[in-house]
Amino acid sequence: MIDLSRLKGTPVAVMGLGKSGLATAAALRLSGAEVWVWDDNPASRAKAEADGFQVVDLSTADLSALATVVWSPGIPHTHPAPHPVAERARAAGIDLVCDVDLLGRAEQDAAFIGITGTNGKSTTTTLIGHIMAAAGRPIRVGGNLGTPVLSFDPLGGGGTHILEMSSYQLELTGSITFDVAILLNVTPDHLARHGGMDGYVAAKRLIFRGQSAGHTAVIGVDDEPSRRVFADLTAANLTAASAQRVWPISARGPVAGGVYAADGGLIDDTEGRAERVADLASFPSLLGAHNWQNAAAAYAACKAVGVPTATIVQAMTSFPGLAHRQQLVATVNGVRFVNDSKATNADATEKALATFDPIYWVLGGQAKDTGLAGLEGYMGRVRHAFLIGEAQEPFAAWLTAQGVAHTRCGTLDIATTKAAGLALAEGLDGACVLLSPACASWDQFANFEKRGEAFSTYAAAIAAARQPEGSEGE
Ligand code: ADP
Repeated sequence: MIDLSRLKGTPVAVMGLGKSGLATAAALRLSGAEVWVWDDNPASRAKAEADGFQVVDLSTADLSALATVVWSPGIPHTHPAPHPVAERARAAGIDLVCDVDLLGRAEQDAAFIGITGTNGKSTTTTLIGHIMAAAGRPIRVGGNLGTPVLSFDPLGGGGTHILEMSSYQLELTGSITFDVAILLNVTPDHLARHGGMDGYVAAKRLIFRGQSAGHTAVIGVDDEPSRRVFADLTAANLTAASAQRVWPISARGPVAGGVYAADGGLIDDTEGRAERVADLASFPSLLGAHNWQNAAAAYAACKAVGVPTATIVQAMTSFPGLAHRQQLVATVNGVRFVNDSKATNADATEKALATFDPIYWVLGGQAKDTGLAGLEGYMGRVRHAFLIGEAQEPFAAWLTAQGVAHTRCGTLDIATTKAAGLALAEGLDGACVLLSPACASWDQFANFEKRGEAFSTYAAAIAAARQPEGSEGE
């Protein structure tokens, strides 16, 4: 656990008792702070009380003695309306911070790489972690994914924290200046929480807060808002006394002085030599243009902290990908089985449909209000659709209207078996059995992870059954 003994004997409140809130409370307690905890949900409070924490109603208690309030980033503290406890804390002159901010104060000798953007954060964060580990660097990977940061073992000097940062966390993390800060992309999302698009972009820009000479800003320039941030930073640097290095990245083609995908290759122009450092096709778990953006960002970040090009490229080749996000789980006679169970809406599914061709598409579950709208343009790639779950009937109607052949399968085992059967029988080049449901999983599974695991198990069984006879054990 991270040592927070700076706060020993000090009253600190923890607001919101999810996974990171509880980890924060535990780290504070271990460090000797006087911890008050609160959550609007009585069940969460009861659990914390059972764990021996002091539950204090922050909506009525006198907050003036508190040194700080550690705020759970999921709870609104500005828009659409500030939580009353946030208002009370601010009125009492108390700072709201999140757990990552406490990490930053405790680990001042460590380096920090921060990753934000509307999409691709987890992939890029995990990829950077994979490369840095391959380079033998001491690292911790977390933030908005995985282990709560205050549960990390301390790193100290020479180590690097690689942190996925949501816009909510960035608003509550004033103490960290990232040595390398990445903004991947910005598309409209969470607008209500940020009071509109300007507020959202402003929150994302906080990733570059405090940067100066010796720091690196990596910015995706494939969307308009991010391009504007790039232009602003570059312009500001012309007059700044101590400017950070700013590297643009793109999945769409050349960007001078940056890292980009072009003609099937990853190009490094950070030294003005436009050097082709790898074939994108050699990264089996970084399929599709959206992943090239992630690859370019990860490459730039690792280069910025001195990882040799060959090490970066080698590690990208062995990157296993993130579970349930266009994850290659089996290949049978050239047919790829791809688990994209995390795609719980049409927007996310669109990325997978854009990546593969031809597709044997397994979809359905509990539909979102928007259904399959927006996917019309990809239907030419779908050889056949295999439907499951509650969405089966409405999706069948939609597919009929699009002229796409489909089969009602009911459950995932049947859908996977039928999709595999047809894909293997047709034997088309590049064929992909794709689970990209465009639906929540809750009608048939506990969560999207369980759904993805089930698909992977069926795919593995199909692969095992297709092994040439006598090959077992060889
Ligand atoms: P996040 O952590 O930002 O939610 P993930 O890395 O978990 O992003 O990816 C979630 C989904 O978003 C992926 O399955 C893919 O469909 C899509 N995605 C990933 N990277 C990008 C990107 N750079 N641009 C657009 N979409 C992306």
